[in-house]
Amino acid sequence: MADDHVAARGAKGRALGLLGGTFDPVHYGHLRAADAVRRALHLAEVRLFPAGDPPHRAAPVATAAHRLAMLALALPEFPGLVVDAREIARAGKSYTVLTLEELRAEAPSRPLALILGVDAFAGLPTWHRWQAILDLAHLVVVTRPDAALADALAGPLAEVWVARHVDDAARLESQPAGAIYALTIAPQPISATFIRRALAAGTDGLDAVRGMVPPAVLAYIDRNQLYRSRPDAT
Ligand code: ATP
Repeated sequence: MADDHVAARGAKGRALGLLGGTFDPVHYGHLRAADAVRRALHLAEVRLFPAGDPPHRAAPVATAAHRLAMLALALPEFPGLVVDAREIARAGKSYTVLTLEELRAEAPSRPLALILGVDAFAGLPTWHRWQAILDLAHLVVVTRPDAALADALAGPLAEVWVARHVDDAARLESQPAGAIYALTIAPQPISATFIRRALAAGTDGLDAVRGMVPPAVLAYIDRNQLYRSRPDAT
């Protein structure tokens, strides 16, 4: 790998994990994956960043206030996971690069590790100022045991991978940014799309999604009648 990209620059402190998403609603797929990455890489914490206005997809179904409330109810089960609501507070599209620039300004030498699934990683070249992202944070690309990361490495990502990937997780602590590390974790076959569709489908919806979200989140969804009567919910 090319050391000009991951040269030691006086990194300070344990790496901070970052997971963006819509969390519409938060579920055990997000929570267990974030927790598994935190443990595997000994991260100080993983911050979850609910998007205000996600650039690459339709607007969330639940309001920002509801999505934040559900995250607050979910997190006590997972010490080490923390919510950061800055993308909701910020006006405009929730571009990851802006969030990383803010975090970098707050802690210039702190290692930052942006956690991405393989699909998100494969789409990275479509993100706003994607190359700047590579210099603001490390990337942790989360793969499943059966997933071929090589399939995602087309076009400009192939070059980026060759230049920046590291096999030693210690590199994520010895530099503040710039490396790409692939981490295999157990798959969690849960998606927010499935949960929204099940809840919209009818009265058995709550039973269909029990066990996919923390009980306090399910109770909140029920109490506030979220994701109901929306056959168009995607
Ligand atoms: P939707 O179905 O609405 O697309 P989602 O749960 O897949 O929702 P987000 O809430 O945007 O998507 O996900 C936030 C982050 O969590 C993304 O990086 C996504 O890849 C990751 N993620 C979502 N579901 C899982 C899961 N089951 N296991 C591991 N990571 C997940």
